[in-house]
Amino acid sequence: MRAVYLDNNATTRVDPEALEAMLPFFTEQFGNPSSIHAFGASVGAALKTARRQLQELLGAAHDHEIVYTSGGTESDNAAILSALEAMPGRNEIVTSKVEHPAVLALCQRLEKIGRAKVHYIGVDALGRLDIGAYRAALSSNVALVTLMWANNETGTIFPIEGLAELAKQHGALFHTDAVQAVGKVPIFLQDSAVDMLSLSGHKLHAPKGIGALYVKRGTRFKPLLHGGHQERGRRAGTENTPGVIALGKAAQLALRHMADEQGRVRRLRDRLENAILERVPNCFVNGDANDRLPNTCNIAFEYVEGEAILLHLTRGGIAASSGSACTSGSLEPSHVLRAMNVPFTAAHGSIRFSFSRDNVEDDVDRVIEVLPGILDKLRALSPFWAGADKSAHQFKPVYA
Ligand SMILES: *Cc1c(COP(=O)(O)O)cnc(C)c1O
Repeated sequence: MRAVYLDNNATTRVDPEALEAMLPFFTEQFGNPSSIHAFGASVGAALKTARRQLQELLGAAHDHEIVYTSGGTESDNAAILSALEAMPGRNEIVTSKVEHPAVLALCQRLEKIGRAKVHYIGVDALGRLDIGAYRAALSSNVALVTLMWANNETGTIFPIEGLAELAKQHGALFHTDAVQAVGKVPIFLQDSAVDMLSLSGHKLHAPKGIGALYVKRGTRFKPLLHGGHQERGRRAGTENTPGVIALGKAAQLALRHMADEQGRVRRLRDRLENAILERVPNCFVNGDANDRLPNTCNIAFEYVEGEAILLHLTRGGIAASSGSACTSGSLEPSHVLRAMNVPFTAAHGSIRFSFSRDNVEDDVDRVIEVLPGILDKLRALSPFWAGADKSAHQFKPVYA
């Protein structure tokens, strides 16, 4: 039986074409791109091509606006720390309560050591940013606004262009963690007010351990890593050349497959979501049904533990993820769902299904086949289920 992988927001399979493109850079083309001799020069030329491929996916004006990093986490950290250093006299950061830990953990650390004051903007029940609170937090003290393009747990998309324009009005730099958006929704950074953007290879069918930070030309920037002059002095360290090549190829493929993502993948996701909402009582969608990534579906099942659902899915050969970051047995529900005020009983039973172009109709059929039975079985064990108000919780999809 073919395993069903529906956890593509956690990581994706490396595209065979990206793998094929990177392999020669481990062996025949092993040169250091900074070397003057022939071994280095040919690698340097290949890196240039890869940089152009990524530039095209982002709609960036210049290929040297791309700085290669080790991934999304490094890009986020580099952008935030750079802004604080590059904007003397400003020590405030504006972010949201639903960011990835790569942003939130650093912000909390900066607060703790007294390096910055951080505004954590809240969201509504659909995960949409509180624009009033955002406007109120902006001032001439703000060095950086950092807001994610799309949420990794719910897929909710923030209106990044407009939010960046508002930050500009206060002279603040604007960074977006676009790790989940790149390759899934069209992005065009030329003429945008976005100064910096993070992306990660392994979320778009390139390998783990390679990523990039887009830095708009003219943006004041201070490097995170100091050393050699690689990446025009913005990120020291010999480039991960196989990774860079694979990321370039993955960017080219992402552009080619964008229509598939917006069409076929979205339909797979919608078919699964509608079938679940129809067949399983007392469940609802977490996130903004309209402004949402085409591949992500996060559903809250009341009166059941998400971890228990996942365990049963795993036995059925299906890989998904729980909305709750139940790290090392802690029963804290996800910070994202908490910020959305999802009731405790539902936040604990939330499951994320995230698709990619590798998924097929059969994957959806398999989940629809087993999931209702799993829910029936688990809920029968719950002391609260028998007395639960089933009619009052018949949530319906709210699609346009
Ligand atoms: C995965 C992810 C990251 C971290 O990227 P890594 O390359 O794994 O460090 C950051 N932000 C978001 C939104 C992500 O989904």
